[in-house]
Amino acid sequence: MPAMIPDEATRRRLIESVARAMLDHADELTALDQAIGDGDHGINMKRGFEAVMADIDTHAAKPLPEALASVGMALVMKVGGASGPLYGTLFMTLGKHLPAEPDRTALIAAFGAAIDAVKARGKSDFGQKTMLDVLGPVHAALASGGDLDAAADDAAEATVPMKAIRGRASFLGDRSIGHMDPGARSSALMVHAVTAVLEPSA
Ligand code: ADP
Ligand code: MG
Repeated sequence: MPAMIPDEATRRRLIESVARAMLDHADELTALDQAIGDGDHGINMKRGFEAVMADIDTHAAKPLPEALASVGMALVMKVGGASGPLYGTLFMTLGKHLPAEPDRTALIAAFGAAIDAVKARGKSDFGQKTMLDVLGPVHAALASGGDLDAAADDAAEATVPMKAIRGRASFLGDRSIGHMDPGARSSALMVHAVTAVLEPSA
């Protein structure tokens, strides 16, 4: 990933890209959650990112750290499910740790801190069939200069044989095996949405 200096237009495109991905894939995310959860992940993400889009001018006008914080806050406030506070924590912690003009090193450090914050908030860890099982491998790919899109898709696919230990899917025990985790899929979609803006040639 190249050094990024996200001006207002780029911040707007980033937010729009992630929001559009969530809105366009709401039905798919809900179908995944119907298999191992309560069938609302797509609805939750759609509600959260519709609220983000309603204030896009305000978010995009802010410097990157504050923009991430206000997007995260909107998700915390608008999403009822577990994913709202967790993604909200992810965005808010990125905002707390990123400088306004981050280089790759700063991004790696901030993303690591944001993943740790999600773990703390969710009392969760890698290997439990959650969004963390995509966020962790994408962070590793970022640190090693790997392909972020491939890492995200492979990691989401790798949640299929996992048994859920956290979140509603854990209530199913062994019956959670054989389905992709909805939050893993939404995380992979967010990664694609970000790389599409920051690495348009990829
Ligand atoms: P809810 O589970 O409240 O219905 P969603 O359906 O919107 O909320 O989100 C479910 C997703 O949230 C799961 O697929 C999983 O990836 C993620 N998730 C749930 N609980 C946790 C947790 N404790 N730690 C990390 N991720 C979690
Ligand atoms: Mg759900």
